[in-house]
This record gives sequence, C-alpha cells and structure tokens, in this order.
Amino acid sequence: MNLRIPGPIPVPEDILATMATPMMNHRGPQFKDLLYRVTDGVKQVFDTKNDLYILTSSGTSAMEAAIVNTLSPGDKVLNLSIGSFGDRFGQIAEIYGATVTKLNFPWGSAVDIDALRDVLKAEPGIVTVMVTHNETSTGVTNDLEAIASVVKGEFDKLLLVDGISSVCSIPLQTDAWECDVVATASQKGWMLPPGLAFISFSERAWEAHASAKMPKFYLDLAQYRSYYEKGQPPYTPAISIFFALDLAIQQLQEEGIDALFARHARIAQMTREGIKDLGLSLFPDEQYASDTVTAASIPEGVVASDLLRIVREDHDVVLGGGQGPVDGKIFRIGHMGKTTPEDIRGVLDALAASLPKVGFTPAGTAH
Ligand SMILES: *Cc1c(COP(=O)(O)O)cnc(C)c1O
Repeated sequence: MNLRIPGPIPVPEDILATMATPMMNHRGPQFKDLLYRVTDGVKQVFDTKNDLYILTSSGTSAMEAAIVNTLSPGDKVLNLSIGSFGDRFGQIAEIYGATVTKLNFPWGSAVDIDALRDVLKAEPGIVTVMVTHNETSTGVTNDLEAIASVVKGEFDKLLLVDGISSVCSIPLQTDAWECDVVATASQKGWMLPPGLAFISFSERAWEAHASAKMPKFYLDLAQYRSYYEKGQPPYTPAISIFFALDLAIQQLQEEGIDALFARHARIAQMTREGIKDLGLSLFPDEQYASDTVTAASIPEGVVASDLLRIVREDHDVVLGGGQGPVDGKIFRIGHMGKTTPEDIRGVLDALAASLPKVGFTPAGTAH
C-alpha cells in the first residue's frame, strides 16, 4: 500500500522490526541510557537546549500540555489559526478557561504579520500567543521565524507552537526563534508509528509554570522534570516506540538534518509540479505551500470521495481528504518521512489514471 496521508506515515521495515525487541524495566539502568540518548537526539532535531519531554500519547496531548503547563483560567491568549489544527489549539485553551482572542485567516492562506502586530498592539493584556507552524489541514506553512520575531522581539509574549507536522521535516529553530514551547508527534516526520509526543519547554515557560493554575495530572511537566533527573519517565512509556525512536534518530543523524530538510523540499516541489502538470491546482497560494503535505483542489464537477476511492481500490494509493469547511473540496498528499520520488510518481500516475473516471481530463492526455 502507498500510504500517503499526512500521518501516520509509512514506517521503514527496520524501524518496525526493532519494535519487536523484548520489554525492559522502564525504571532500570538500560531504560535510563535509552531515555537520555533519545532525548538528546530529539533535542538536536528541535535545535534546542531547552528541556524536552517525551509523552506517551498523541500530538494533541502535547498541545494540551503546552497550554495547561503555562496558563491559568482567565489568562488572555491570542490564537492564530489558518485551519482545523489551529482551531483545535484555541479550543483546548478555551475549554481550560483561557480568554481566547481568535485571529483566524482564510483556509489556504498564512498568518498575516501586520494583522498579528495590530492585535498585539490593541490588546496589551495578552500574555501568550499560540500558533501552528505547519497547518496540515490546508497544506500551508506559516513563516514562524517572522511570527516569532514579532511575538518575542517586539512584544515579548510567551510563544506556544504546534510543530506537529513540521519538526523533523521542515526547519524549526526552537532556540534561535525563541519558541517557548514546541509540540510534535511521532507519526508525522519522525518515521515512527503513532504513540509518542515530544514537547520542548523553555526557562520562560517554567516561570509561567510556577504560577499556572490550569488543572493537570498526566500532562504536568513538573513530574516529567523530576523523574527525568532519575532517568525515568513518571508513567509507563510506550517502550516499543522508544526502541523505534532510538533507531530513527541514528538514521537521521547519519543522513544529516540539513540533508533531510533538503530532501523534503525536493519531494514537495516534485509533488507540486506533478499536480500542476495534471492540470489540477494547488489549494494554497504556492508561496506558503507546505513541504510536508500538499493540498490540491478538487476540480469542478468531480466528487472527491469517488476520486479517493478509485485511487485506493485500483492503485492501492491512500490519500487524505479535506476536513471541515474544505471537506469534498480538496485532497491531500502526505510526504513526510522517507517518501521517495517513486512514491510520488505512484501517486501522480494513479491520479492520472483515475481522474478521467470521475469526469476530469488530466492535462497532457487529451489528444
Ligand atoms: C496531526 C496533527 C495534530 C494532531 O495530532 P494527533 O497526534 O492526531 O493528536 C495537531 N496539529 C497538527 C499540525 C497536526 O498535523
């Protein structure tokens, strides 16, 4: 199967195989070595010297942890949203009682820096800004460096980042850009199955933690910090995925992180060119188009679910559909992890063969 959704991604065979390693005591010396080794490896990918914790849960838990560990009910926060994951970040903060100012941008576009600056000027009571680096629902990457330079450089707010579909695929310089909290998850760029989430936490975030009153138990990072000193996680971790993480980190260190970023950019470029060559159009403005997920518009008259079904049944290619307001309007191709040019060729060939069956004549095939 050519699994091309934006997570979970296909996991290389050798990484899958390492998950068959027998269990070990998660409070013993072997696990301590493993925990310290993989935490250091993950920190290198985050480009950070901040604390970093590995949670046994999906990416959303790290978004929730970012909020409950830094905020109190009633705190004023600014949520920047350009799609469904941005909306989710704001929703979590609201559920825990934060007063959320929502700055939403049309799906398919990116955060406008001037609009961000205007809100921060107009509402000096805002303490924290929340943003999605790469919006997986629309295939858009925000200019996080520019956003951070306003949020930190000009206004000195706490900055919480959902980097779930960017970290380990697209450059995100946690320390250089002063991102206080960055959240990501194993099934996106890390070549791993779902089940682990990673969260970095700055000194400034710890200062916020000291007075943060939102309720928390499993996600209280103070527990992770004190257990980390002993070389343990506070609760039983997904040990099998730790084995996989250990090998994935070795592999990405061998490749080199810059080479890995360049490879993602090349594969994404190939995907975008291929989509346009078929006569389809990209959903977002190409200048913001993501290097981890490509969103293409469903042409007039084509039923999205028919297209995705034919591609799956006839070609064994699994693509992502649209969510919420873009359900039926777009489809998405995930290209994180070890996606090869052949994988993308397979997707484009499957689309070329399937589009005529749903009433669309791909470019270059009408003779
Ligand atoms: C996948 C994703 C999430 C949700 O992660 P889960 O692991 O499904 O909880 C959140 N934000 C972004 C940007 C994502 O891509």
